[in-house]
Amino acid sequence: MLASNPQWHAIQTNDASQDGHFYYGVTSTKIFCRPSCASRLPNRDHIRIFKTSTAAVQAGFRPCKRCRPTGEAVTVTEWVQEIDAIIAAHYSENLTLTELAHQAHGAPSYLHHVYRQQTGQTPQAHLQAVRLAHAKDLLMTTELPLKAIAIRCGFQSPAYFSTTFKKCYNQTPSSYRKNITS
Ligand SMILES: [Zn+2]
Repeated sequence: MLASNPQWHAIQTNDASQDGHFYYGVTSTKIFCRPSCASRLPNRDHIRIFKTSTAAVQAGFRPCKRCRPTGEAVTVTEWVQEIDAIIAAHYSENLTLTELAHQAHGAPSYLHHVYRQQTGQTPQAHLQAVRLAHAKDLLMTTELPLKAIAIRCGFQSPAYFSTTFKKCYNQTPSSYRKNITS
């Protein structure tokens, strides 16, 4: 169901008096919230309205960590899994900590803190490891030029890709490719 004007207004103004009357899911993130949720206002076209939190869950949406629309806290373990899923789906994009936190519905500094505490590494370090692993795979299995691989794996420039790759694997992407194909 699409948002009616009063529902959209309640979402825009974080109207707590509407909590319990409906829930809204955001199709781009697959997370659902109470009307009062203070997370960044989504695009209206991406909003689906649900009468109950159960209906939202049945439709494949996950409860927001911030406003807890099911009344239960999302455990940190679940949250870390969710963050990893976002990284796995969006590593090729310019995924800043702010954007990651927006998609995972939490404050950037809190997300950083929790993630590091749970996994022993920062979300940025994990993102980079995911990017490098994909790059390695593409170097091995495709003949794509380095520039294309850099872009596809979310590196800002081929030079940055090379430097990062070398720091991690002690060889440049091109020598890595040469070594495994020769
Ligand atoms: Zn929320």
